[in-house]
Amino acid sequence: MSKKSIYDLTHQAMKDQFTAWGFSSFKADQLFNWLYRKKISDFDLMSDMSKAQKSLLNDTYGTTTLHLVERQQSKDGTVKYLFGFDDAKVECVRMHYHFGYSVCISSQVGCNMGCKFCASGLLKKQRDLTAGEMVQQVLYVAKELEPLNERVKNIVIMGTGEPFDNYENVMDFCAIVNHPKGLEIGARHITISTCGIVPKIRLFADQHHQYNLAISLHAPTNALRDTLMPVNHAYPLEELMDALSYYASKNNRKITFEYILLRHVNDTDEHAIALAKLVKGLCAYVNLIPYNAVDENGFQGVDMGVALRFYDVLMKHGVKATLRARHGDDIDAACGQLRAKREGVFR
Ligand code: SF4
Repeated sequence: MSKKSIYDLTHQAMKDQFTAWGFSSFKADQLFNWLYRKKISDFDLMSDMSKAQKSLLNDTYGTTTLHLVERQQSKDGTVKYLFGFDDAKVECVRMHYHFGYSVCISSQVGCNMGCKFCASGLLKKQRDLTAGEMVQQVLYVAKELEPLNERVKNIVIMGTGEPFDNYENVMDFCAIVNHPKGLEIGARHITISTCGIVPKIRLFADQHHQYNLAISLHAPTNALRDTLMPVNHAYPLEELMDALSYYASKNNRKITFEYILLRHVNDTDEHAIALAKLVKGLCAYVNLIPYNAVDENGFQGVDMGVALRFYDVLMKHGVKATLRARHGDDIDAACGQLRAKREGVFR
């Protein structure tokens, strides 16, 4: 059986491990420093670990399991990575914003949620990613940025997979990248995007996490959402909005609603007004996303005029919104597209 990766361990788990071995829990600080500040994973190079500690670490834990399969760079600087593990490939995207670099990671291999506009849903879920496999995606990008004197400032868990279908591992991942002895990415710079797994939204609310919550909404009515997102059959909008009100009552945090504008599907004034009514009362923020067309499923994006009009209607109805810039038009930028091509789903 393969060893658990050291990157799967939260700082607390590392402290517990060293304590269980009979050493000071302070060793966890030192190990985090090697892994995430110095970005060295070879235990034998860790000069402040004793021979006995190195030996225990080598016997118990594996290190890097991720390798690069393919890298595409867009003219706008967006980089898309296809990473491989022994049994699977996953995608990750690096984007450059005015505030710095943001990384969008995958949380599962494939996805079972079946959203009709999503290339990731073309490949069913093979398995969940471990916390360490998510951490390694970020670490790879962080290492790549070091020679540029840059760092990862922001993480979105919005790549392939439904994060709340892999709740424990995603929460461990967030704890690891957020920890002040490690990569120290602020909780408010980590966004978890869910298609609306209601029980997990309630659990997330009860646990009072400071990470940002985003909802992949994409339709303001049950009739339309049912046709786009099968999850809506299990958790219709009434239940989703109830859970979000509960989250807001417990956490008093902004909620981002992701809305992909699809031509002749969800892009009219009526849709914008229905959306504004739906999110009213929550501290809501709508992120309008231009669609990167996925050839095989027939959806198309809207032109800029339609997008701006939708934005205006929302703003007039008192809902804050942004129109996200298109990233990586000239590469396989749609979620899951690069991997789907590699696995032969697309020609
Ligand atoms: S949009 Fe997200 S939840 Fe929906 S199928 Fe794609 S990866 Fe899964």
